[in-house]
Amino acid sequence: MGLGVGNRDQRDDLGIEVHSGSPRCKGRTNAVLLGRGRQTETKMIVCATVDDVCLEGYSSPAHLASLLDFFREQKLRATFFVVPKAGGIPLGDRPDYVGLLREAMSEGHAIAQHGLEHDRFETGIPPKMVLDLPHEGPARERLAKDRAAIEDSLRVDALRARLSEGRRILEDALGVEIQGFRAPCLSICSNLFDALEAEGFRFDSSRHLQEAGWEIISGKEPIAFRPITREDFDRTQYPGRLRILPLTTEYTWYLTRDKFQITMDLARHDLDACFQAGIPFVPLCHVSPVHQGDAGCGYEMYRRLLDHARKTAAARGDELQTINLVEACDAV
Ligand SMILES: [Zn+2]
Repeated sequence: MGLGVGNRDQRDDLGIEVHSGSPRCKGRTNAVLLGRGRQTETKMIVCATVDDVCLEGYSSPAHLASLLDFFREQKLRATFFVVPKAGGIPLGDRPDYVGLLREAMSEGHAIAQHGLEHDRFETGIPPKMVLDLPHEGPARERLAKDRAAIEDSLRVDALRARLSEGRRILEDALGVEIQGFRAPCLSICSNLFDALEAEGFRFDSSRHLQEAGWEIISGKEPIAFRPITREDFDRTQYPGRLRILPLTTEYTWYLTRDKFQITMDLARHDLDACFQAGIPFVPLCHVSPVHQGDAGCGYEMYRRLLDHARKTAAARGDELQTINLVEACDAV
């Protein structure tokens, strides 16, 4: 595994066509605006993020350990979004996960909060492209039946209580301050951001810039790659101290060989667009699904994407920064 990107018109050991296809961004960005009006030097930032740590069916200690190995190999610092009370069990009662997450922190990765118990509606309502996923049938039915009760449960005080309970569980188990949040199933509402601000969270990463990843997962055709611009990023921002670091999309949800090439094309498109816009590229993966597609596809997608990112940065005379989202807050 680990074939280079530049072997045009060959097939690798996954049976996947290998080419250097994606066009380079034209010209060099001399300066990018990262942050509210603050001008800094050019930065090419990749922030790998991993969701569903501790969530039964989508996470296992073995898969988490494997991801840590992969990030070691790639020399990057990632952000792990941990479900504080998955299946009703607080993180502190799961010594295997606590040990792995402490190891992750010692290697420079960041730990952030992912809901409370990962109920679909505990922090908002999932966006349509998530509700459209084949496995979200029960959520669609529940929303159709209980929308009024769900919306009533999303008051700022109720959201603050959920955020606070989950954050305390993570902080007690890990002995660190939790600074960031991502909503389960990207379930957001405007009250959620007010609650995050009131609770003093430093960043949120629940908004998204690209829908096509979920459309590929759902088997929709044709797939339209949405453009990603600086204006899109600015529109996601909250008018307070809370920093919004939007993700692009999910690329490795049980990734299969037949969807590898279009997913790779999308990932390169999004990465190039983020670099061109001067915003961090924040891909999303999940602890177990990145392992459980066709053999090797998930990691191979990331290997090739990171190789492409490093070559793009080198061609521009820049250094690629592969940092966690707490560090990205400092960079923006
Ligand atoms: Zn999740």
